[in-house]
Amino acid sequence: LPTEFEQAKPIIETIEAAGFEAYFVGGSVRDTILGKPIHDVDIATSAFPAEVKSLFKRTVDTGIEHGTVMILDHGNGYETTTFRTESGYQDFRRPDQVTFVRSLKEDLKRRDFTINALAMRANGEVIDLFDGLADLDTRVIRAVGVAEDRFHEDALRMMRAVRFASQLGFTIEPATAQAIADNAQLLTKIAVERTRVEWEKLLLGQQPVRGLQALVASALYRYMPQMADQAPMLTKLMALPTWHLASVEEAWTLLVWLMGLPNEAAIRQLLKAWKTSNELIDHVMAAWQVMTALQHDSKLAPMTLFKAGAAALKTANTVANLVGFGQPQATIDAAYEALPIQDKHALALNGGDLLKQQVVKPGPRMGQVLAQLLTAVVNGKVSNESSALLDFARMVADTEND
Ligand code: ATP
Ligand code: MG
Repeated sequence: LPTEFEQAKPIIETIEAAGFEAYFVGGSVRDTILGKPIHDVDIATSAFPAEVKSLFKRTVDTGIEHGTVMILDHGNGYETTTFRTESGYQDFRRPDQVTFVRSLKEDLKRRDFTINALAMRANGEVIDLFDGLADLDTRVIRAVGVAEDRFHEDALRMMRAVRFASQLGFTIEPATAQAIADNAQLLTKIAVERTRVEWEKLLLGQQPVRGLQALVASALYRYMPQMADQAPMLTKLMALPTWHLASVEEAWTLLVWLMGLPNEAAIRQLLKAWKTSNELIDHVMAAWQVMTALQHDSKLAPMTLFKAGAAALKTANTVANLVGFGQPQATIDAAYEALPIQDKHALALNGGDLLKQQVVKPGPRMGQVLAQLLTAVVNGKVSNESSALLDFARMVADTEND
């Protein structure tokens, strides 16, 4: 058993000693059997939330209305969820009602895929009520029960299927794949943020092309934000030589590039539709600027390097390498390191100094003069010392007065 499970064993044993059942469940069981590293340890139990809480000193009600209590133990947190069934799903995304039950089988039945419906006892024994082990063995993603019904209950599961295809390199079983194709439009019922999480996991997965193939074969992509017309982009993406992405910044920069978006406004519009953070939007726009520059001239101008900053430069060059016109990262890093300054706060003269020396009066010209100073320093036209900068600022201000 992985250390994470060994550490969590006493939790299960404590619940069992009180006369309840408790098991490891979910992705950590799947990944352990696959020999992959695990992240979060999830526990399912027959004990009701109040019963769980009575057994442990330190707990947090992280989702108590759904039966989830976090047990804190030696610096670790374990999400412990009471066996439950779900019913309703009038909106194709969440159950109208959850009911706590005492049966493990009922709980496993509500899970999305057979490989995610395995349970493990504290001693490592696997409980496999839906033939998940066989599907792990043959590397198949298969809905638990009738696929069509399961996607009607929660349309996000369709995105999860293609995401797991990418992360695990598995094939989606034909009936499950058919149900995705038949119900793809239900994805529009799902909150964009939740779709985005799965989409990003797909793109960052071990075998992204597998996930993309499933996405295209089912036409599921057509119901993702702003993607209806993106078949050409997806085709290009699938045709790239083997690729692995390391960050969501790289993923979105690659998409934006292959989409051939014309300008920053179009990039912003796309990313807003996907509800990404403003930090991500800024990063992708900066990386896109660098790629545009790199495509035309292999030597990046000092201001292009400066404006992008180290992180966006790395993203841009990584993606440029994927699409065929990148450079050794060391070349870019060296050019960036060679800039006279990397940050505008490193200018040896600031707005306060300009006022004090009466070079400019407060107002919009201040910003213009400072911008010219910055450009001159970055381009190596003026050295970054206060006296040289003051002379230069006086000259600039005089010219503007004329
Ligand atoms: P990851 O490795 O990304 O965490 P995971 O399988 O653990 O993958 P989670 O979202 O952490 O995915 O969910 C934990 C478990 O809860 C799943 O393995 C599955 O059994 C169940 N589950 C999660 N989301 C759904 C869903 N939308 N429908 C049905 N079951 C789900
Ligand atoms: Mg998980």
